[in-house]
Amino acid sequence: MAYDKNNIFAKILRGEIPCKKVYENDFVLAFHDINPQKKIHVLVIPKGEYVDLDDFNEKATDKEIVGFNKAILEIVTKLKISNKSNGYRVLSNIGSDGGQEVPHLHYHIFGGEKIGKMVN
Ligand code: 5GP
Repeated sequence: MAYDKNNIFAKILRGEIPCKKVYENDFVLAFHDINPQKKIHVLVIPKGEYVDLDDFNEKATDKEIVGFNKAILEIVTKLKISNKSNGYRVLSNIGSDGGQEVPHLHYHIFGGEKIGKMVN
């Protein structure tokens, strides 16, 4: 699937739509989900144009892949939900069976309470 430059997260990255920012560096932007499913529900997106995790792993540079994943620790530490506290869950939906709605790679980070069953 070709990257759609008009997807909602591309607009957030360009500053055309506001977000409640949690963290930003050269590689990622993290912000609160507009419709939180848990007490803490944050989305982490790469700054590059990648449709999903497959697209990212296929096309991103090693620097981008490392930068994106290392940012998770920074973000959960800032949110005080790392495993030094009570822990959290990371999830990424990919494609139609995965239930992906927004076609720009994102990790969901859930925390702040018990997350419950792995899959409903
Ligand atoms: P997906 O189903 O693609 O994995 O998740 C997309 C997520 O993006 C959903 O949890 C949804 O609530 C969130 N979302 C959709 N539009 C917006 C928006 O405009 N702002 C923010 N902050 N989150 C959004």
